[in-house]
Amino acid sequence: MTTLTPVLSAFWDDDASWSMATYEREGGYGALRTALQTPKADLIQLVKDSGLRGRGGAGFPTGMKWGFLPPDDGGPRYLVVNADESEPGTCKDIPLMMAAPQFLIEGVAITSYAIGCTHAFIYVRGEVVHVYRRLLRAVEEAYAKGFLGKNILGSGFDLDVTVHAGAGAYICGEETALLDSLEGRRGQPRLKPPFPAVAGLYARPTVVNNVESIASVPSIVANGADWFTSMGSEKSTGFGFFSLSGHVARPGQYEAPLGVTLRELLDMAGGMRSEQYGLKFWTPGGSSTPILTAEHLDVPLDFEGVGAAGSMLGTRALQIFDESVSVVRAVSRWVDFYAHESCGKCTPCREGNFWMKQILQRLEHGKGTERDIDLLLDACDNILGRSFCALGDGATSPVTSAIQYFRDEFVAGTHTPADVLFPPEHSLLFAPEVAAK
Ligand code: SF4
Repeated sequence: MTTLTPVLSAFWDDDASWSMATYEREGGYGALRTALQTPKADLIQLVKDSGLRGRGGAGFPTGMKWGFLPPDDGGPRYLVVNADESEPGTCKDIPLMMAAPQFLIEGVAITSYAIGCTHAFIYVRGEVVHVYRRLLRAVEEAYAKGFLGKNILGSGFDLDVTVHAGAGAYICGEETALLDSLEGRRGQPRLKPPFPAVAGLYARPTVVNNVESIASVPSIVANGADWFTSMGSEKSTGFGFFSLSGHVARPGQYEAPLGVTLRELLDMAGGMRSEQYGLKFWTPGGSSTPILTAEHLDVPLDFEGVGAAGSMLGTRALQIFDESVSVVRAVSRWVDFYAHESCGKCTPCREGNFWMKQILQRLEHGKGTERDIDLLLDACDNILGRSFCALGDGATSPVTSAIQYFRDEFVAGTHTPADVLFPPEHSLLFAPEVAAK
Protein backbone atom coordinates (compact mmCIF):
# COMPACT_ATOMS: atom_id res chain seq x y z
CA MET A 1 0.00 0.00 0.00
CA THR A 2 1.48 3.34 -1.03
CA THR A 3 1.29 6.03 1.60
CA LEU A 4 1.13 9.76 1.19
CA THR A 5 4.33 11.80 1.03
CA PRO A 6 3.40 15.27 2.21
CA VAL A 7 6.21 17.66 1.37
CA LEU A 8 4.68 20.70 -0.32
CA SER A 9 1.45 20.12 1.60
CA ALA A 10 3.14 19.23 4.90
CA PHE A 11 1.81 22.18 6.90
CA TRP A 12 -1.25 23.37 5.02
CA ASP A 13 -3.30 22.74 8.17
CA ASP A 14 -1.18 25.08 10.29
CA ASP A 15 -2.47 28.49 11.23
CA ALA A 16 -1.41 31.05 8.63
CA SER A 17 0.34 28.33 6.62
CA TRP A 18 1.02 30.91 3.91
CA SER A 19 3.05 33.25 6.08
CA MET A 20 6.80 33.65 6.09
CA ALA A 21 6.84 32.96 9.85
CA THR A 22 5.28 29.51 9.33
CA TYR A 23 7.52 28.72 6.38
CA GLU A 24 10.69 29.60 8.29
CA ARG A 25 9.50 27.67 11.34
CA GLU A 26 9.20 24.61 9.07
CA GLY A 27 12.78 25.05 7.85
CA GLY A 28 12.02 27.28 4.90
CA TYR A 29 14.86 29.11 3.14
CA GLY A 30 17.48 26.70 4.51
CA ALA A 31 17.75 25.32 0.96
CA LEU A 32 18.39 28.79 -0.45
CA ARG A 33 21.26 29.28 2.02
CA THR A 34 22.73 25.94 0.89
CA ALA A 35 22.21 26.75 -2.78
CA LEU A 36 23.95 30.12 -2.57
CA GLN A 37 27.09 28.31 -1.37
CA THR A 38 26.92 25.71 -4.13
CA PRO A 39 28.41 26.10 -7.62
CA LYS A 40 25.66 26.76 -10.14
CA ALA A 41 26.63 23.80 -12.31
CA ASP A 42 26.35 21.51 -9.27
CA LEU A 43 22.82 22.72 -8.60
CA ILE A 44 21.79 22.00 -12.18
CA GLN A 45 23.42 18.57 -11.93
CA LEU A 46 21.59 17.91 -8.65
CA VAL A 47 18.23 18.57 -10.26
CA LYS A 48 19.23 16.41 -13.24
CA ASP A 49 20.24 13.61 -10.86
CA SER A 50 16.95 13.88 -9.00
CA GLY A 51 15.11 13.02 -12.21
CA LEU A 52 12.53 15.76 -11.52
CA ARG A 53 10.25 15.97 -14.54
CA GLY A 54 8.06 18.95 -15.36
CA ARG A 55 4.93 18.86 -13.24
CA GLY A 56 2.93 21.00 -15.68
CA GLY A 57 1.92 18.00 -17.76
CA ALA A 58 4.59 17.47 -20.39
CA GLY A 59 7.02 15.74 -18.04
CA PHE A 60 10.19 17.12 -19.62
CA PRO A 61 13.22 16.70 -17.31
CA THR A 62 13.58 19.98 -15.41
CA GLY A 63 17.37 19.92 -14.97
CA MET A 64 17.85 19.18 -18.66
CA LYS A 65 15.69 22.18 -19.53
CA TRP A 66 17.91 24.40 -17.40
CA GLY A 67 20.96 22.89 -19.10
CA PHE A 68 19.67 23.96 -22.55
CA LEU A 69 20.41 27.63 -21.86
CA PRO A 70 23.33 28.86 -23.96
CA PRO A 71 26.53 30.00 -22.20
CA ASP A 72 26.28 33.33 -20.40
CA ASP A 73 26.90 36.21 -22.81
CA GLY A 74 26.55 38.92 -20.18
CA GLY A 75 22.97 39.81 -21.22
CA PRO A 76 19.80 39.06 -19.28
CA ARG A 77 18.26 35.61 -19.05
CA TYR A 78 14.94 34.88 -17.45
CA LEU A 79 13.00 32.41 -15.37
CA VAL A 80 9.28 32.47 -16.05
CA VAL A 81 6.99 30.42 -13.83
CA ASN A 82 3.90 29.17 -15.58
CA ALA A 83 1.15 29.65 -12.98
CA ASP A 84 -1.63 29.98 -15.57
CA GLU A 85 -3.45 26.89 -14.33
CA SER A 86 -6.66 26.66 -16.37
CA GLU A 87 -7.14 23.10 -17.61
CA PRO A 88 -10.58 21.73 -16.67
CA GLY A 89 -10.05 19.56 -13.60
CA THR A 90 -6.54 20.79 -12.86
CA CYS A 91 -6.36 22.35 -9.44
CA LYS A 92 -2.97 21.82 -7.82
CA ASP A 93 -0.88 24.96 -8.38
CA ILE A 94 -3.60 27.32 -7.21
CA PRO A 95 -4.08 25.54 -3.83
CA LEU A 96 -0.31 25.31 -3.41
CA MET A 97 0.20 29.03 -4.05
CA MET A 98 -2.68 29.83 -1.73
CA ALA A 99 -1.62 27.54 1.12
CA ALA A 100 2.18 27.78 1.03
CA PRO A 101 3.46 30.28 -1.55
CA GLN A 102 6.96 30.49 -0.10
CA PHE A 103 7.84 27.05 -1.54
CA LEU A 104 7.47 28.65 -4.94
CA ILE A 105 9.32 31.86 -4.04
CA GLU A 106 12.25 29.93 -2.55
CA GLY A 107 12.29 27.68 -5.62
CA VAL A 108 12.33 30.74 -7.86
CA ALA A 109 15.30 32.16 -5.94
CA ILE A 110 17.28 28.89 -6.14
CA THR A 111 16.47 28.28 -9.80
CA SER A 112 17.28 31.87 -10.77
CA TYR A 113 20.62 31.63 -9.02
CA ALA A 114 21.38 28.31 -10.76
CA ILE A 115 20.61 29.59 -14.26
CA GLY A 116 22.04 33.09 -13.80
CA CYS A 117 18.75 34.99 -13.86
CA THR A 118 18.34 38.30 -12.02
CA HIS A 119 14.71 38.99 -12.90
CA ALA A 120 12.11 36.24 -12.65
CA PHE A 121 8.41 36.37 -13.49
CA ILE A 122 5.45 34.45 -12.14
CA TYR A 123 2.60 34.50 -14.67
CA VAL A 124 -0.56 33.70 -12.73
CA ARG A 125 -4.04 33.13 -14.08
CA GLY A 126 -5.88 36.44 -13.87
CA GLU A 127 -9.19 35.09 -12.59
CA VAL A 128 -7.69 33.92 -9.31
CA VAL A 129 -7.34 37.35 -7.79
CA HIS A 130 -7.02 35.91 -4.29
CA VAL A 131 -3.96 33.90 -5.37
CA TYR A 132 -2.49 36.91 -7.15
CA ARG A 133 -2.82 38.94 -3.94
CA ARG A 134 -1.33 36.14 -1.87
CA LEU A 135 1.67 35.91 -4.20
CA LEU A 136 2.19 39.67 -4.10
CA ARG A 137 2.22 39.53 -0.32
CA ALA A 138 4.55 36.51 -0.30
CA VAL A 139 7.01 38.26 -2.60
CA GLU A 140 6.84 41.35 -0.39
CA GLU A 141 7.63 39.22 2.68
CA ALA A 142 10.57 37.59 0.89
CA TYR A 143 12.00 41.01 -0.03
CA ALA A 144 11.58 42.18 3.56
CA LYS A 145 13.55 39.18 4.83
CA GLY A 146 16.36 39.66 2.30
CA PHE A 147 15.54 36.49 0.34
CA LEU A 148 14.86 38.60 -2.76
CA GLY A 149 16.35 41.91 -3.85
CA LYS A 150 19.96 43.06 -3.76
CA ASN A 151 22.82 40.97 -2.39
CA ILE A 152 20.62 38.12 -1.17
CA LEU A 153 21.88 36.80 2.20
CA GLY A 154 25.20 38.55 1.57
CA SER A 155 25.96 36.32 -1.42
CA GLY A 156 26.26 39.09 -3.99
CA PHE A 157 23.34 37.55 -5.93
CA ASP A 158 20.55 39.97 -6.92
CA LEU A 159 17.04 38.90 -7.89
CA ASP A 160 13.82 40.74 -8.59
CA VAL A 161 10.54 38.86 -8.90
CA THR A 162 7.52 40.21 -10.76
CA VAL A 163 4.11 38.62 -10.30
CA HIS A 164 2.03 39.17 -13.42
CA ALA A 165 -1.70 38.46 -13.69
CA GLY A 166 -2.87 37.19 -17.07
CA ALA A 167 -6.20 38.16 -18.58
CA GLY A 168 -7.87 34.77 -18.50
CA ALA A 169 -7.02 32.85 -21.66
CA TYR A 170 -6.35 29.12 -21.44
CA ILE A 171 -3.92 29.33 -24.35
CA CYS A 172 -1.58 31.47 -22.23
CA GLY A 173 -0.65 28.27 -20.39
CA GLU A 174 1.21 27.31 -23.58
CA GLU A 175 4.70 28.54 -22.85
CA THR A 176 5.30 30.68 -25.93
CA ALA A 177 1.79 32.20 -25.84
CA LEU A 178 2.52 33.00 -22.21
CA LEU A 179 5.71 34.81 -23.24
CA ASP A 180 3.88 36.83 -25.89
CA SER A 181 1.23 37.75 -23.34
CA LEU A 182 3.88 38.72 -20.80
CA GLU A 183 5.45 40.99 -23.40
CA GLY A 184 2.09 42.73 -23.78
CA ARG A 185 0.96 41.05 -26.99
CA ARG A 186 -2.08 38.93 -27.72
CA GLY A 187 -1.31 35.48 -26.30
CA GLN A 188 -0.79 33.12 -29.22
CA PRO A 189 1.78 30.34 -29.57
CA ARG A 190 5.02 31.14 -31.35
CA LEU A 191 6.64 29.09 -34.07
CA LYS A 192 9.39 26.87 -32.62
CA PRO A 193 12.34 26.87 -33.07
CA PRO A 194 13.70 29.07 -31.70
CA PHE A 195 12.81 27.53 -28.36
CA PRO A 196 12.51 29.74 -25.28
CA ALA A 197 15.86 28.46 -23.98
CA VAL A 198 17.49 30.27 -26.92
CA ALA A 199 15.08 33.16 -27.61
CA GLY A 200 12.28 33.42 -25.08
CA LEU A 201 11.14 36.46 -23.14
CA TYR A 202 12.29 39.64 -24.94
CA ALA A 203 14.18 37.27 -27.28
CA ARG A 204 16.57 36.33 -24.48
CA PRO A 205 17.34 32.84 -23.09
CA THR A 206 14.43 31.83 -20.87
CA VAL A 207 13.46 28.87 -18.73
CA VAL A 208 9.70 28.35 -18.42
CA ASN A 209 8.74 25.96 -15.61
CA ASN A 210 5.51 24.96 -13.88
CA VAL A 211 4.75 26.09 -10.32
CA GLU A 212 4.94 22.62 -8.78
CA SER A 213 8.25 21.87 -10.55
CA ILE A 214 9.88 25.00 -9.16
CA ALA A 215 8.29 24.56 -5.73
CA SER A 216 9.82 21.06 -5.53
CA VAL A 217 13.36 22.38 -6.01
CA PRO A 218 14.00 23.54 -2.39
CA SER A 219 13.17 20.06 -1.05
CA ILE A 220 15.63 18.49 -3.50
CA VAL A 221 18.38 20.93 -2.51
CA ALA A 222 17.65 20.34 1.18
CA ASN A 223 17.39 16.53 1.07
CA GLY A 224 19.42 15.48 -1.95
CA ALA A 225 18.78 13.66 -5.20
CA ASP A 226 18.81 10.19 -3.56
CA TRP A 227 15.99 11.20 -1.23
CA PHE A 228 13.93 12.33 -4.21
CA THR A 229 14.63 9.24 -6.29
CA SER A 230 13.75 7.01 -3.32
CA MET A 231 10.14 7.98 -4.08
CA GLY A 232 8.23 7.27 -7.26
CA SER A 233 9.24 4.89 -9.99
CA GLU A 234 12.42 4.42 -11.97
CA LYS A 235 11.76 6.99 -14.69
CA SER A 236 9.14 9.03 -12.86
CA THR A 237 10.85 9.92 -9.63
CA GLY A 238 9.60 11.83 -6.63
CA PHE A 239 6.20 12.89 -5.44
CA GLY A 240 3.42 15.04 -6.78
CA PHE A 241 -0.08 16.26 -6.19
CA PHE A 242 -2.91 14.00 -7.27
CA SER A 243 -6.02 16.17 -7.34
CA LEU A 244 -9.14 14.07 -6.89
CA SER A 245 -12.38 15.73 -7.86
CA GLY A 246 -15.89 14.65 -8.79
CA HIS A 247 -17.74 11.67 -7.42
CA VAL A 248 -15.39 10.70 -4.61
CA ALA A 249 -16.21 10.73 -0.93
CA ARG A 250 -13.33 13.02 0.02
CA PRO A 251 -12.08 15.04 -2.95
CA GLY A 252 -8.87 17.00 -2.47
CA GLN A 253 -5.12 17.10 -2.91
CA TYR A 254 -3.29 13.83 -2.24
CA GLU A 255 0.48 14.30 -2.33
CA ALA A 256 1.90 10.88 -3.12
CA PRO A 257 4.79 9.21 -4.93
CA LEU A 258 4.43 8.96 -8.70
CA GLY A 259 3.31 5.43 -9.52
CA VAL A 260 0.51 5.35 -6.96
CA THR A 261 -2.68 3.87 -8.44
CA LEU A 262 -6.19 5.28 -8.57
CA ARG A 263 -7.36 2.30 -6.51
CA GLU A 264 -4.98 3.34 -3.71
CA LEU A 265 -5.95 6.98 -3.99
CA LEU A 266 -9.64 6.12 -3.91
CA ASP A 267 -9.06 4.05 -0.77
CA MET A 268 -7.45 7.09 0.84
CA ALA A 269 -10.27 9.30 -0.42
CA GLY A 270 -12.98 7.13 1.13
CA GLY A 271 -14.06 5.52 -2.14
CA MET A 272 -16.81 6.66 -4.47
CA ARG A 273 -19.39 9.12 -3.14
CA SER A 274 -22.21 6.52 -3.02
CA GLU A 275 -22.68 2.80 -3.31
CA GLN A 276 -25.44 3.33 -5.83
CA TYR A 277 -23.10 4.17 -8.69
CA GLY A 278 -19.72 2.62 -9.48
CA LEU A 279 -16.78 4.25 -11.22
CA LYS A 280 -17.51 4.84 -14.91
CA PHE A 281 -14.64 6.89 -16.32
CA TRP A 282 -11.89 9.24 -15.17
CA THR A 283 -9.22 11.52 -16.49
CA PRO A 284 -5.67 10.86 -15.32
CA GLY A 285 -4.48 14.41 -15.93
CA GLY A 286 -7.13 16.89 -16.89
CA SER A 287 -9.58 17.02 -19.75
CA SER A 288 -6.96 16.89 -22.51
CA THR A 289 -5.74 13.45 -21.47
CA PRO A 290 -7.64 10.47 -22.90
CA ILE A 291 -10.19 9.14 -20.43
CA LEU A 292 -9.70 5.82 -18.69
CA THR A 293 -12.25 3.49 -17.12
CA ALA A 294 -12.73 1.14 -14.17
CA GLU A 295 -10.47 -1.35 -15.99
CA HIS A 296 -7.56 1.00 -15.29
CA LEU A 297 -7.80 1.27 -11.51
CA ASP A 298 -4.43 -0.43 -11.05
CA VAL A 299 -2.47 1.51 -13.67
CA PRO A 300 0.60 3.09 -12.01
CA LEU A 301 0.11 6.83 -12.19
CA ASP A 302 3.50 7.71 -13.57
CA PHE A 303 4.51 8.92 -17.03
CA GLU A 304 5.24 5.44 -18.34
CA GLY A 305 2.33 3.58 -16.74
CA VAL A 306 -0.36 5.97 -17.92
CA GLY A 307 1.26 6.18 -21.37
CA ALA A 308 1.17 2.39 -21.67
CA ALA A 309 -2.55 2.45 -20.81
CA GLY A 310 -3.15 4.77 -23.76
CA SER A 311 -3.39 8.08 -21.95
CA MET A 312 -1.08 10.68 -20.41
CA LEU A 313 -0.20 11.53 -16.83
CA GLY A 314 -0.71 15.23 -17.56
CA THR A 315 -1.33 17.32 -14.48
CA ARG A 316 -2.59 14.43 -12.32
CA ALA A 317 -6.03 16.01 -12.26
CA LEU A 318 -8.11 12.94 -11.52
CA GLN A 319 -11.68 13.81 -12.36
CA ILE A 320 -13.82 10.91 -11.24
CA PHE A 321 -17.18 10.27 -12.92
CA ASP A 322 -19.61 7.63 -11.69
CA GLU A 323 -22.23 5.67 -13.61
CA SER A 324 -24.78 8.46 -13.28
CA VAL A 325 -22.88 10.57 -15.80
CA SER A 326 -23.46 10.75 -19.54
CA VAL A 327 -20.08 10.51 -21.22
CA VAL A 328 -21.53 12.31 -24.26
CA ARG A 329 -22.58 15.24 -22.10
CA ALA A 330 -19.20 15.39 -20.32
CA VAL A 331 -17.26 15.32 -23.60
CA SER A 332 -19.60 17.90 -25.09
CA ARG A 333 -18.82 20.30 -22.20
CA TRP A 334 -15.08 19.78 -22.62
CA VAL A 335 -15.24 20.45 -26.34
CA ASP A 336 -17.31 23.59 -25.65
CA PHE A 337 -14.36 24.70 -23.56
CA TYR A 338 -11.76 23.97 -26.24
CA ALA A 339 -13.83 25.63 -28.94
CA HIS A 340 -14.13 28.71 -26.73
CA GLU A 341 -10.44 28.75 -25.83
CA SER A 342 -9.02 27.99 -29.29
CA CYS A 343 -6.89 31.03 -30.05
CA GLY A 344 -7.81 30.90 -33.73
CA LYS A 345 -4.28 30.93 -35.11
CA CYS A 346 -4.51 27.65 -37.00
CA THR A 347 -7.37 26.26 -39.06
CA PRO A 348 -7.58 22.63 -37.83
CA CYS A 349 -8.15 23.67 -34.21
CA ARG A 350 -10.21 26.81 -34.88
CA GLU A 351 -12.59 25.17 -37.35
CA GLY A 352 -12.37 21.59 -36.09
CA ASN A 353 -13.44 22.42 -32.55
CA PHE A 354 -16.24 24.61 -33.88
CA TRP A 355 -17.61 21.66 -35.89
CA MET A 356 -17.03 19.08 -33.14
CA LYS A 357 -18.97 21.26 -30.74
CA GLN A 358 -22.00 21.27 -33.06
CA ILE A 359 -21.87 17.52 -33.70
CA LEU A 360 -21.60 16.79 -29.98
CA GLN A 361 -24.52 19.07 -29.21
CA ARG A 362 -26.63 17.11 -31.71
CA LEU A 363 -25.64 13.82 -30.10
CA GLU A 364 -26.20 15.17 -26.62
CA HIS A 365 -29.75 16.18 -27.52
CA GLY A 366 -30.59 12.89 -29.22
CA LYS A 367 -30.60 14.52 -32.64
CA GLY A 368 -27.41 13.00 -34.03
CA THR A 369 -27.24 11.41 -37.44
CA GLU A 370 -25.81 8.02 -38.27
CA ARG A 371 -22.77 9.70 -39.82
CA ASP A 372 -21.98 11.81 -36.76
CA ILE A 373 -19.66 9.39 -34.97
CA ASP A 374 -17.54 8.92 -38.09
CA LEU A 375 -17.67 12.66 -38.68
CA LEU A 376 -16.38 13.28 -35.16
CA LEU A 377 -13.54 10.81 -35.64
CA ASP A 378 -12.73 12.38 -39.00
CA ALA A 379 -12.61 15.84 -37.42
CA CYS A 380 -10.25 14.48 -34.73
CA ASP A 381 -8.03 12.99 -37.45
CA ASN A 382 -7.82 16.38 -39.08
CA ILE A 383 -6.96 18.18 -35.84
CA LEU A 384 -4.57 15.72 -34.17
CA GLY A 385 -1.01 16.24 -35.37
CA ARG A 386 -2.08 19.03 -37.71
CA SER A 387 -2.58 21.80 -35.16
CA PHE A 388 -0.04 24.47 -34.34
CA CYS A 389 0.05 23.73 -30.61
CA ALA A 390 -1.03 21.12 -28.09
CA LEU A 391 -4.45 22.67 -27.46
CA GLY A 392 -5.79 21.24 -30.71
CA ASP A 393 -4.36 17.79 -30.05
CA GLY A 394 -5.66 17.86 -26.47
CA ALA A 395 -9.19 18.68 -27.60
CA THR A 396 -9.39 15.42 -29.53
CA SER A 397 -8.32 13.22 -26.59
CA PRO A 398 -11.63 13.08 -24.71
CA VAL A 399 -13.57 12.60 -27.96
CA THR A 400 -11.62 9.67 -29.40
CA SER A 401 -11.16 7.93 -26.05
CA ALA A 402 -14.84 8.31 -25.13
CA ILE A 403 -15.91 6.82 -28.46
CA GLN A 404 -13.39 4.01 -27.95
CA TYR A 405 -14.86 3.02 -24.57
CA PHE A 406 -18.49 4.16 -24.80
CA ARG A 407 -19.45 4.01 -28.47
CA ASP A 408 -22.94 2.76 -27.61
CA GLU A 409 -23.71 5.99 -25.80
CA PHE A 410 -22.79 7.99 -28.87
CA VAL A 411 -25.00 5.71 -30.98
CA ALA A 412 -27.83 6.34 -28.51
CA GLY A 413 -27.32 10.05 -29.19
CA THR A 414 -28.92 9.49 -32.60
CA HIS A 415 -32.31 8.90 -30.97
CA THR A 416 -32.33 9.64 -27.21
CA PRO A 417 -31.20 12.79 -25.38
CA ALA A 418 -28.42 12.29 -22.84
CA ASP A 419 -30.49 13.83 -20.06
CA VAL A 420 -33.16 11.15 -20.57
CA LEU A 421 -30.60 8.34 -20.40
CA PHE A 422 -28.69 9.97 -17.55
CA PRO A 423 -30.82 12.48 -15.62
CA PRO A 424 -28.40 15.26 -14.62
CA GLU A 425 -29.83 15.50 -11.10
CA HIS A 426 -28.35 12.07 -10.38
CA SER A 427 -24.86 13.44 -11.05
CA LEU A 428 -25.06 16.45 -8.75
CA LEU A 429 -22.18 16.72 -6.36
CA PHE A 430 -24.36 18.33 -3.74
CA ALA A 431 -27.87 17.66 -2.51
CA PRO A 432 -30.38 19.63 -4.64
CA GLU A 433 -31.24 21.98 -1.79
CA VAL A 434 -27.53 22.80 -1.42
CA ALA A 435 -26.98 23.17 -5.17
CA ALA A 436 -29.98 25.51 -5.44
CA LYS A 437 -28.57 28.00 -2.92
FE1 SF4 B 1 -4.42 28.37 -31.47
FE2 SF4 B 1 -5.66 25.99 -31.38
FE3 SF4 B 1 -3.90 26.45 -33.24
FE4 SF4 B 1 -3.09 26.21 -30.70
S1 SF4 B 1 -3.97 24.60 -31.93
S2 SF4 B 1 -2.41 27.73 -32.21
S3 SF4 B 1 -4.86 27.16 -29.67
S4 SF4 B 1 -5.83 27.58 -32.97
